[in-house]
Amino acid sequence: MVSTDCEADILVIGSGFGGLTAAALSARAGARVHVFERHTRPGGCAGDFALGGFWFPAGATVVTGLEPGGILRQVFDAVGLDVEAVPLDPSIVFHLPDRVVPYVASHAAWEALFAEQFAGAPAGYRRFWRWVRLVGGEVYRIGAALPSFPLERPADIRRSLRAVSPSLVLAAPWLFATIRRVKRLLGADGDPAADALINALLLDATGATATDCSAVQGAIALDLYRRGCQWVDGGTGALAMKLVRAIRASGGTVTFGNGVAGLRPDGSGWRVRLDDGTTLSARAVIANLPPGGLDLLMGRPPRLPEPGKAWGAFVLHLGIDATGLAPLHPFHQIVSDLNDLETPGNNCLVSIYPGRGDRANRWSISVSTHVPPGAFAVPPAQAQRLRCRLEGRLLEAVRRVIPDVDHRILLLRSATPATYQRFTGRPGGFVGGLRQTPSVVALRAPGRRAGRGMVLAGDHTFPGQGTVGTALSGINAARDVLEYLGMEAPL
Ligand SMILES: Cc1cc2nc3c(=O)[nH]c(=O)nc-3n(C[C@H](O)[C@H](O)[C@H](O)COP(=O)(O)OP(=O)(O)OC[C@H]3O[C@@H](n4cnc5c(N)ncnc54)[C@H](O)[C@@H]3O)c2cc1C
Repeated sequence: MVSTDCEADILVIGSGFGGLTAAALSARAGARVHVFERHTRPGGCAGDFALGGFWFPAGATVVTGLEPGGILRQVFDAVGLDVEAVPLDPSIVFHLPDRVVPYVASHAAWEALFAEQFAGAPAGYRRFWRWVRLVGGEVYRIGAALPSFPLERPADIRRSLRAVSPSLVLAAPWLFATIRRVKRLLGADGDPAADALINALLLDATGATATDCSAVQGAIALDLYRRGCQWVDGGTGALAMKLVRAIRASGGTVTFGNGVAGLRPDGSGWRVRLDDGTTLSARAVIANLPPGGLDLLMGRPPRLPEPGKAWGAFVLHLGIDATGLAPLHPFHQIVSDLNDLETPGNNCLVSIYPGRGDRANRWSISVSTHVPPGAFAVPPAQAQRLRCRLEGRLLEAVRRVIPDVDHRILLLRSATPATYQRFTGRPGGFVGGLRQTPSVVALRAPGRRAGRGMVLAGDHTFPGQGTVGTALSGINAARDVLEYLGMEAPL
């Protein structure tokens, strides 16, 4: 029997997308929910910040999952939130060294555009895009049924049964394959530019390129961008703020600037120590942290991802004077070396946000690239040299979209893995969860249950990175703790 005389039914540590989703659903179910966020704003890696009169996204920029039936849309509907999202078509514009390719939504239009842009590519690529449509569509259907992986308990099987249908046979055979294997089987090989486009998108969405990217995760990543990315005013930070409002509207609390400093089991619940020294008792805890973050709170050495299993990020933030610039598509993927996308700076995402009102000509630009967090764990002078070099590389990428950007810069800042460690509390500065290789997806995904009445949520548990993925982790975290407390989950 779980004690009922605690100050909180559910205490949520952190207000990233996983924590906010879990908290909003739990509060909606009638639980007494308290969220504690160490930072002054919600959203974590998908939050935002203001600097020198400009607004910037902290990390995430591309929004997916708000289409009707999408995972984020299901969450917002369940907690009674109305969100305006404009579908983007193309979702993103690829800039390869010798051509610009818009990633258009319609399958027929993409097939025609691909044939025109990659005229010499073997016919196997056409088969590959058809495979993406078929298998990606099926993985999308499974995801939208909100499964609960890995299958550790009867509850996981019960929840995941909703995803079972005869069409499962489309995805099941690929569960342990890589995208490279699929490409080879279908004869989609031998066009470096087409491969670079595929790899760039895979790297951004899954942290892995075709060589070791899980086939099912790769299929959904490639398909999702064509199914629909959405433009949301204010970006993911605005979505996070809406979830905060939903939690409060359901009677929950969200406290900023006061984090959790430690926790320990206490009878049938948990005793939580806050940064300001106060303590609280909770019947259950949802920790929106990587496993290493929870370790630190429990007084254990932090578990970090093994070398090569996860990435860090380097982000260049620019505030520019956009006077005279014509409106631009918000998202541009710039690939500067077709054969080596993993070297920092060779593949990056440029996200552009026009200003509003009387600051309409003040645009914010964020450019992100993958880096191994260890790259910055060097003496300060060496780290500074790396920072300058990467700032230069990312600025080169922006010139592909805005050739005279250098003359427009009013503000320039960059973020390293150390910045993410500091502002999102992620040990080692690893972001985006584990690289989505076949060994960590679906049935083999890392589990979230960390103890009795203690569940992890976030991009380090199933199904992995991205705001949509972490929302699904939050749905499952809420289901777990609500069931533990004998309450019914809204989703
Ligand atoms: C540069 C970059 C670009 C990205 N681009 C995209 C994109 O375009 N689209 C997309 O969908 N995803 C993108 N992602 C990935 C996405 O942002 C993340 O996968 C997702 O937001 C992670 O959410 P989370 O639930 O794991 O929580 P996190 O974002 O890790 O948030 C955890 C929260 O917990 C707080 N916290 C930590 N410790 C404590 C404590 N002890 N007490 C209280 N609070 C604490 C932190 O301050 C933080 O607010 C990007 C990520 C980065 C870094």
